[in-house]
Amino acid sequence: MKTTDKTAEQAQLTKKQTYNLNKLHKRLRRNVGNAIADFKMIEEGDKVMVCLSGGKDSYTLLDILLNLKLSAPIHFDIVAVNLDQKQPGFPEDVLPNYLNGLGIEYKIVEENTYGIVKEKIPEGKTTCSLCSRLRRGILYRTATELGATKIALGHHRDDMLETLFLNMFYGGKLKSMPPKLISDDGKQIVIRPLAYCKEKDIEKYAVAKQFPIIPCNLCGSQPNLQRQVVKEMLQTWDRQYPGRIETMFSALQNVTPSHLCDPTLFDFKRIRRGQIIPGIEGDIAFDKEDLTPLHRQDDEDESPEFTQAQLIRFKEVN
Ligand code: SF4
Repeated sequence: MKTTDKTAEQAQLTKKQTYNLNKLHKRLRRNVGNAIADFKMIEEGDKVMVCLSGGKDSYTLLDILLNLKLSAPIHFDIVAVNLDQKQPGFPEDVLPNYLNGLGIEYKIVEENTYGIVKEKIPEGKTTCSLCSRLRRGILYRTATELGATKIALGHHRDDMLETLFLNMFYGGKLKSMPPKLISDDGKQIVIRPLAYCKEKDIEKYAVAKQFPIIPCNLCGSQPNLQRQVVKEMLQTWDRQYPGRIETMFSALQNVTPSHLCDPTLFDFKRIRRGQIIPGIEGDIAFDKEDLTPLHRQDDEDESPEFTQAQLIRFKEVN
């Protein structure tokens, strides 16, 4: 979008949009703050390396973390990192311009993973798995070089739910994306501060903030069809059964291993007559299930109502 178009669009923001944008900002801030606190994602003295891809999620993550840093009760530093994978048409100046404008510490890492992936993977095959592995290794190495103590990724609540269903449908596993995890070698801690944020909120926020989005299809890879199918399934449910997504996300935070079937999580063989095992729900097999939704009803209606044209233009570049 040209600068003049941007300015015109900004000027068109109504008072109501501005008011609702503030509400949306507060909600994202609150959600990120809650996730950080619930999982102790950031601690005093941390240096958080924010991985910035140029997509809506990572821009939002950086923006909200920078904002939270201003009023956080602890001190932590932020360094933004972008991996320039040398995809054809990658606009090299977009992120440096943006980051210089913010005046924060950043590093652009240039590694031709695109070339490696194209060389190793036959034409027409999915490239994302190798590409992600290479990217992960480079980001871990960069975190060590920069002295970062946490690596922040921009995955959000909907990514986590999609991953849950992908693993169930195609991998036979009850497994999502953790809000916090440690790398295999134990040297890096990865955090996902957007874990409680809805993709819809992030999308609206990115439109409103006019982040200079870099298209994510520069590598020419086909979108992951399985993920797309799951995404559409969740979006359909969201339209048909409002609240279901929130309830499912609550389920991720409310797991009862004794009522699943994984003997490595719960020792079913230990169950004996006449014994009370602390920490399990006990026998509710004959009780009526309490199906009161567990999720907090967020102030959904307070999102900025952007025009269709604004959202469509955003989706075209994202
Ligand atoms: S879409 Fe392209 S850049 Fe992204 S992970 Fe897949 S291969 Fe890599």
